[in-house]
Amino acid sequence: METKQFQAESKRLLEMMINSIYSQREVFLRELISNSSDAIDKIYYKALTDDSLTFEKDSYYIKVVPDKENRTLTIKDSGIGMTKQELENNLGVIAKSGSLAFKRENEIKDGHDIIGQFGVGFYAAFMVADVVTVISRALGSEQAYKWESHGADGYTIEPYEKDTVGTEIILKIKANTEDESYDEYLEEYRLKSIIKKYSDFIRYPIKMDVTIRKPKEDAENEFEEITEEQTINSMVPIWRKNKSELTDEDYEKFYQEKHYGFDKPVKHIHINVDGTIRYNAILYIPENIPFDYYSKEYEKGLELYSNGVLIMNKCGDLLPDYFSFVKGLVDSEDLSLNISREMLQHDRQLKLIAKNISKKIKNELQQLMKNEREKYEQFYKSFGRQLKYGVYSDFGTHKETLQNLLLFYSSTEKTLTSLDEYVSRMKDDQKYIYYASGESYERIEKLPQTELVADKGYEILYFTEDIDEFAIKMLMSYKEKEFKSVSSGDLGIENEEEKPSEAEEKENKELFSTMKEILSGKVTDVRISKRLKSHPVCLAADGEVTIEMERVLSSMPDNQNVKANKVLEINSSHEVFQALKNVMENDKEKLSLYTNLLYNQALLIEGLPISDPVEFTNDICKVMV
Ligand code: ADP
Repeated sequence: METKQFQAESKRLLEMMINSIYSQREVFLRELISNSSDAIDKIYYKALTDDSLTFEKDSYYIKVVPDKENRTLTIKDSGIGMTKQELENNLGVIAKSGSLAFKRENEIKDGHDIIGQFGVGFYAAFMVADVVTVISRALGSEQAYKWESHGADGYTIEPYEKDTVGTEIILKIKANTEDESYDEYLEEYRLKSIIKKYSDFIRYPIKMDVTIRKPKEDAENEFEEITEEQTINSMVPIWRKNKSELTDEDYEKFYQEKHYGFDKPVKHIHINVDGTIRYNAILYIPENIPFDYYSKEYEKGLELYSNGVLIMNKCGDLLPDYFSFVKGLVDSEDLSLNISREMLQHDRQLKLIAKNISKKIKNELQQLMKNEREKYEQFYKSFGRQLKYGVYSDFGTHKETLQNLLLFYSSTEKTLTSLDEYVSRMKDDQKYIYYASGESYERIEKLPQTELVADKGYEILYFTEDIDEFAIKMLMSYKEKEFKSVSSGDLGIENEEEKPSEAEEKENKELFSTMKEILSGKVTDVRISKRLKSHPVCLAADGEVTIEMERVLSSMPDNQNVKANKVLEINSSHEVFQALKNVMENDKEKLSLYTNLLYNQALLIEGLPISDPVEFTNDICKVMV
């Protein structure tokens, strides 16, 4: 028997293959199983046009047989097989794909079920095997052949006996080395898990003899080991099924099986697209936050399948950051994969899919908000923060997409409300969308700054999360209504009688300038408040940076020391004001004491730290004695 040489390029290519194309060894099995699946598909396609052939799906299978004793792993299939010529052409010439040629020859345009295209997958076997033996009998032929190769040296072909049509690939698994163990590719559990991982949705059964422990029938507490042939793969991918065939339970079961999460998803989205780019997707909106969600460790992404074969575990490009909570998968037959099928050659198709998916998710969330409010709010409690980050990030590029998904607590509704709902309730004379920031609803409710706005009967949005005000600043306005903090300088509320009289301002000019001096460096102004009704003092901010923003920014790791222009506002109808006027006349020292006290009180109301608590308490004692 003569040993034939691989073509020179092929020889180098093979070495390259074995050493560098695949990042993970385990994918050799994915490649061989995909070839077997293609081989069965080919009979199916032939039977479509050849009346002498029938295709009975049940009689086609793939079988994986580990043999520890002989250190072999065999992959058998009842596919179309290969003639001597085909063995030479397809396995002797690297980078020649018989499957691609088959599609062309048979003019199968829609043959997208056939996976092979590069003509290299087969050689992945050499990542785990020293010797690869292929025994194959082609459809319509009596004679079988044995092809064998020890790798780069070349291959032999000789006639062989085989009873049935199909192919057997026998891998002589490499011996363990100091660094690498190959034993795992002979272990049932390991093979099972590789099959499940990559080939779960191959359309033909992938069988394996599995050892199971069973209680003995005649003796208690005794077990026996029996071998049972099992089908390892689920075969029909749920995402290729018709939506009408599937129940909520089916989707939930799949979510659990896939370990997307331990919760019950709030919503599933099943997409079948048959447009310029064909794809199926099943997406889930989880109910609960994964424990690492708001940490650096969390990795967003969807599983990416090509023709039911897993390509990528977490394809991050399929999801924008603001929807990073979405779980699920995409399967497309139109992806242009690179040779190892681990990456895409270009991402045009992926971008298109990602865009479609985002649109879908947004629409579904909007529907959920509209039709199943309770569920939406549940979702929003978990992931609302991420949506707000989305509004804020990338310089507000996504604000249009996301603004209608936002909810905030409402002072009048006492529940979460959308911006749209807020605007629809706005009073005729109301110019702005008002908001107040604070640590909790309860605290905001008590903020003196809310008094005037609330008194006017205007609704106030309560911002309790750090990100809220930043997101709103990015939005700037909603439906042409600007946002306005209740503690901003000008509230835009025209009400003559509540305006402090010019005379009053003038009269107390000296008082305010003295107080401003006392608080120099702490506030930029002291003045009569337009918004206070019952409280004596509050802090307001002039300019863009609000007090709440200062609080948030100062707690960030890269504290830039951004300060709000704070204004101490005094309620001129409060008794305290009279007291201030009195000490202004008679006791400058007391004025200083009172001013500092009022300033510190205002800080406390805002939830801001006072710089010297000891001095503050001493000051209170001074007033008491
Ligand atoms: P690809 O699958 O990308 O075409 P491979 O290197 O995996 O490339 O396989 C090369 C060719 O060998 C295939 O295109 C196919 O024609 C043939 N082949 C491989 N495995 C089998 C098999 N189990 N049954 C029939 N033909 C096979």
